[in-house]
Amino acid sequence: MGEPLLTVRDLDKRYPHADGDVEVLQACELELAPCETVAVMGPSGSGKSTLLNVLGALDAPDAGSLLYEGRTLDLEDRKQAMLWRRDVVGFVFQFHFLLPDFTARENLLLPVRARGIVTEGHKRRADALLAALELTGRAAHRPAELSGGQAQRVAVARAFMNSPRLLLADEPFGNLDRGISDRLGEMLFELCRREQVAMVLVTHDPDLARRADRILHLEHGRLVPATAAGAPR
Ligand code: ADP
Ligand code: MG
Repeated sequence: MGEPLLTVRDLDKRYPHADGDVEVLQACELELAPCETVAVMGPSGSGKSTLLNVLGALDAPDAGSLLYEGRTLDLEDRKQAMLWRRDVVGFVFQFHFLLPDFTARENLLLPVRARGIVTEGHKRRADALLAALELTGRAAHRPAELSGGQAQRVAVARAFMNSPRLLLADEPFGNLDRGISDRLGEMLFELCRREQVAMVLVTHDPDLARRADRILHLEHGRLVPATAAGAPR
């Protein structure tokens, strides 16, 4: 294998508490190849969201390191952390977090605007991403005018807008009906392939997880292969 896109080494994360600290991540390790997709499963409270937040520099670990293409990231450096979130990582959460006063298309263009000028090329890309998610007829709709599944598809399109190298998805379809989430899962993985984006996907849905190149379980603060964890196959 060539150089990993992302290397996670010896990550520790605890939350201090009067009744004793909660150790969430303990010597957690991961190597992700470029364009590789990994599903992370594990019971509620096992630290899946904490892990994604640390990978996305939304939260700082207590120990350990992240390497991007072999280079250590200094996430204590606020500028580096900001650039990591802005230029490398895309996020999809369980809730769409679309801005209510803006249309679907404007929501996609907001992260572009934050970086500079919105060009015709950006608008074409926004429309192409909306089309890839079968939202062409909804580009001018505001979030309140969209169904839950449509709004979540806009959130997926937005995550791809800045051409991230790594998508972090935290139970992205956890609020949607099974039938809908299956189709959305297909679209999400197809976009990752087409855009050559690696993904760490947290999900409770075994059918969604099976679309990933690998399935890992978060257990006792560590990522272990699904089979070793005794997961049903
Ligand atoms: P998951 O996403 O797997 O359900 P989380 O990462 O959200 O798990 O939480 C892991 C553990 O850390 C839980 O026991 C939770 O109570 C605790 N935790 C999460 N966030 C905080 C926080 N901000 N402060 C204190 N404890 C937290
Ligand atoms: Mg969670």
